Parts: sequence; C-alpha cells; structure tokens
Amino acid sequence: MARLAQTHGLTDVQREILSTVRDFVDKEIIPVATRLEHRDEYPQDIVDGLKELGVFGLMIPEEYGGLGESLLTYALCVEEIARGWMSVSGIINTHFIVAYMLKQHGTQEQKDTFLPRMAAGEVRGAFSMSEPALGSDVSAITSKAVRDGDEYILNGQKMWLTNGGTSTLVAVLVRSDEGHPEGTAPHKSMTTFLVEKEPGFGEVRPGLTIPGKIDKMGYKGVDTTELIMDGLRIPANRVLGGTTGRGFYQMMDGVEVGRVNVAARGCGVAQRAFELGVSYAQQRQTFGKPIAQHQAIQFKLAEMATKVEAAHAMMVNAARKKDSGERNDLEAGMAKYLASEYCKEVVEDAFRIHGGYGFSKEYEIERLYREAPMLLIGEGTAEIQKMIIGRRLLEEYRFQG
Ligand SMILES: Cc1cc2nc3c(=O)[nH]c(=O)nc-3n(C[C@H](O)[C@H](O)[C@H](O)COP(=O)(O)OP(=O)(O)OC[C@H]3O[C@@H](n4cnc5c(N)ncnc54)[C@H](O)[C@@H]3O)c2cc1C
Repeated sequence: MARLAQTHGLTDVQREILSTVRDFVDKEIIPVATRLEHRDEYPQDIVDGLKELGVFGLMIPEEYGGLGESLLTYALCVEEIARGWMSVSGIINTHFIVAYMLKQHGTQEQKDTFLPRMAAGEVRGAFSMSEPALGSDVSAITSKAVRDGDEYILNGQKMWLTNGGTSTLVAVLVRSDEGHPEGTAPHKSMTTFLVEKEPGFGEVRPGLTIPGKIDKMGYKGVDTTELIMDGLRIPANRVLGGTTGRGFYQMMDGVEVGRVNVAARGCGVAQRAFELGVSYAQQRQTFGKPIAQHQAIQFKLAEMATKVEAAHAMMVNAARKKDSGERNDLEAGMAKYLASEYCKEVVEDAFRIHGGYGFSKEYEIERLYREAPMLLIGEGTAEIQKMIIGRRLLEEYRFQG
C-alpha cells in the first residue's frame, strides 16, 4: 500500500488533477502553513497559485470557463488541500458553495454575469445564513428584505461569514415576507440575495459593513467576519433564481454539497495527523527503542489508520452518490459526522504520540489540534447531522405493522 485513503476507479483526468494538487500542497502549502497560521496571515501566494491551477473553477461548467469536474474530483482536491492547511480549503469552500448555488438555481443572466469570473477566481464567494442569535435553527432568521420598486431594502446582522472580508459576492439568506402572507411556514418566506461588494473591511458598499476579523482559536489565515446590513439596497434581479421564497431550499442544497467538503477536510486533516504521528513514533526513543515498537503506540497507529480509511470511504461514497444524480443527504450527513469526529480523535492521538512536544508551537500537530474542532461545528453540528440521519432512517425504515 503506497499510502492511506486511495480512491479506486478514477479517470486519467481525475488522477492528473489530484497529482498536480498534491504536488502543489507538498511544495507550496505544507512548508509555510504553520508559520502563516501563527501570524494569522492570509495566504495570498497560495491563493494565486490555486487560481492558476483552476481550482476555483473546478466544478463550474466548461461553458462558463470552469473545468466542469464532478463533486468527487472537487472533494478529493479539498482533501489534499486540507492535508496541507485546513484554512486554504476554507477559502475555496464558500466560493464553491456559491458557484454551485448559482449553477443550480441562478437565472441565465446571473450565471452569465458571475460564473465566468468565479471560474477565474476574480469574483470570490461567501455565503451567509448564521446570525448572532442562531446557527443551527436557520428558520429563526430575523434579517429582513422589504420591496421598494425595483429594489429590496435589507436590514439585519449576520455572523460567522467565512471569507466575509476577502469575498466580492455574498449569498445572503434573509426573510422576505413580500408575496408570502402572514402564517406562511418560516422556511417558505426566505430569499437568497446575491450581494456584490468591495473586498476589505468597514463600509464596503453603502448600507453594508464588514466590521473586522473575528479572533479565532484556530482556522486562522482565512477571515471570518460579521456582516451588518443597514438600509442595504439590492436590485430585484439579484434575487437568486429571480423568485422570492426559495432561499431556504437553495441554501440547504448548497450546504448539502458543502457537507461532503467538510467531510473531505476532516479526511485531509486526519491524514496529515496520521503522517505526523507515524513519523514521530519511529524517531522518538523511550526505554531503549522507538515508541512505534511499543504495542500501545502501534495500537494507536492502527486505530488512527483505520479511521482515516473509513472516513475517506464514506466521503467518497457520499460524493459519488450526488454525482450520480441521486439524493445524498443521508450519506453526506453520515460522512460529515463520522469524518469530523474521527478527525478530532486521530488528531488527539497524534498529539499524544508527540508527548510534550505536541504542546510546542514548533510542531505542526499543535496547529492541527486547534483546527480540528471547527469541523465539528461548520455546515451543521454533530447533533444536527444526527437529526438529519435519524429523520432519513425513519423515512427508509418506516414501520409497516
Ligand atoms: C469558524 C466558523 C466559520 C463559519 N462559517 C460560516 C459561514 O461561512 N456561513 C454561515 O452562515 N455560518 C458559518 N458558521 C456558523 C456555523 O454554521 C454555526 O456556528 C453552526 O451552524 C452552529 O450554530 P451556533 O453556533 O449558533 O450554535 P447553536 O445552534 O446555538 O447550537 C449550540 C449547541 O446546541 C446544539 N443544538 C442546537 N439545536 C439542537 C437541537 N435541536 N437538538 C440537539 N442539539 C442542538 C448544537 O449542536 C450545539 O452543540 C461558521 C462558524 C464557525 C465557528
């Protein structure tokens, strides 16, 4: 076995893309990741390199200038990139979700306007559902859009926007009661707006403020921000898909493919943690032999490798199901849940293998230890995944008595 997490049945094109990305990760990301992360520095050179490789347009159809690749190819690239540095996969992920939502739900004019520039990485996407008072309970959104002639006026506060500062196009979910009478189910009165803005912080467009970066325990380098709308005017032709009331479904569709990608990130971080653990275990000596020769450490390595393999297999299964055109919410939920939990456990084991040195900022595992918890939260917490999985199981295994 050359390495863990092999994927069988890939085409030549997929293999070539992956080998190019892996090479880029080994040469351009891993050597600088920890230094940049400690400085909380945006990895501009890495982003420019990924633009050149065409990664920002991986799944955008060829007619719009992208590579038109599958979700599987995309997820495998994300796995490689997260193996190098999870924050870089975060820079791509929200961009990918917005491009996917445009491709699936946008009007022709919206696709023509944004997708070619998104494929080139010139327009960069962020998506915004969460608010200060809610994350899991999306139906409780209070930000509001009110129609005013050919425009909507948006007011409200959003929270936790990955790429909030660096993006130039934000898909924002708000409540829009227009056309939806009192008493309409909450998820039927939500609309996604495509909000264009300047990159940076402060007032980036009249009525739209990005206050600054949230200071985080890990997942640094990529900016995470709030977004404040105060009388923000958006033309009616920037309602995603042209029709109000469809935002909740559009966002859930985007988050579903996003879940496969969070699973892929978990796989990548876990792989890196395994690589660090297995390497350190063969160098560190205690009681006259390398610690890898103590059975307790070998058992740890065996458990770690098994978890890496299992998470990878579930992630690949979820991506392939979506690519085949089938519903994959069950598989995506399971893959996201398992991969993020296993990632946390594999990282913890690699940390323990490092003994006291794992606590030193000079060792890469220290960074991974602060990054893994984010995967337990983003794109729906473990509890939310289990609610999705449980609901689907009861649909499939309905009691027939
Ligand atoms: C670094 C980072 C980046 C993010 N990026 C984005 C982004 O780009 N765009 C975006 O929109 N959001 C983003 N988020 C927000 C993220 O999606 C939410 O934090 C997440 O959905 C959880 O919501 P919450 O923090 O409000 O927790 P809550 O919903 O308040 O949950 C708190 C706890 O209660 C549990 N819980 C909630 N409801 C239930 C229930 N019904 N049953 C059992 N347990 C329950 C949760 O699992 C959790 O353990 C980001 C968050 C972080 C930390």
